[in-house]
Amino acid sequence: MRKRIVAGNWKMNLTKGEGESLYNSLKGTTSSQTEVKVFVPAIFLDHLLSRSHDVLVGAQNFHPKDSGAYTGEVSISQLKDLGIREVLVGHSERREYFGESDEFLREKVDAALAHGMHVTFCCGEPLEVRESGDEEAFVTEQLHNSLFQVTEAQLNQVTIAYEPIWAIGTGKTASVEQADAMHGHIRNQVRKKYGEQAANALRILYGGSCKPDNAGDLFSCEDIDGGLIGGASLKTQDFKQIIEA
Ligand code: PEP
Repeated sequence: MRKRIVAGNWKMNLTKGEGESLYNSLKGTTSSQTEVKVFVPAIFLDHLLSRSHDVLVGAQNFHPKDSGAYTGEVSISQLKDLGIREVLVGHSERREYFGESDEFLREKVDAALAHGMHVTFCCGEPLEVRESGDEEAFVTEQLHNSLFQVTEAQLNQVTIAYEPIWAIGTGKTASVEQADAMHGHIRNQVRKKYGEQAANALRILYGGSCKPDNAGDLFSCEDIDGGLIGGASLKTQDFKQIIEA
């Protein structure tokens, strides 16, 4: 049985004090069945690491180069030096608002793995692709373009998060059938590329308006191993209920 993961993505929200009290309130939520992690704004990383407990603290973003003239960026080796071991790559907001291409995401995946990070790799289709029925081909291409260059051994350091863009922050969740079908498809692609053992070990999270009232149904699907949670991860009670689910 794969260990579940519930990961929060705080995005560009909260003050330092709010972040600290939210993080403190999550203490003790990790169990033998479920890992809990939070991807927090870069300026909170050092502070929360110093408060660290069973909930892992990860970075939402980084530059793949070790150092250099990239004003405003934080490098993967700087994160490593801080003690960070978890990073998010390929979130649709980074792809859309910051122009992160498949090629750049491939570089980020490779750099993060080379530095021993655990990568949560996001993929997912926009609404027009879902409406045209091409969502499986779209996600397959994202995986091939930015993730499937990794070795089978490196895949142990990867979690995939399927996040249909039309469901992120919209209150519109993918139905259990839609999510389950896509998760099965992703696992099949991993099986084709890396074999049965790797496919069975890989955790695939669902993200997109996941809330306490739909988490249980989603997480009961065979190929859904937990969730990547945006809005609801900012509310202690909601996030805890999702972890319970
Ligand atoms: C996300 O941004 O990763 C996400 C899943 O957001 P929300 O839960 O708010 O839809």
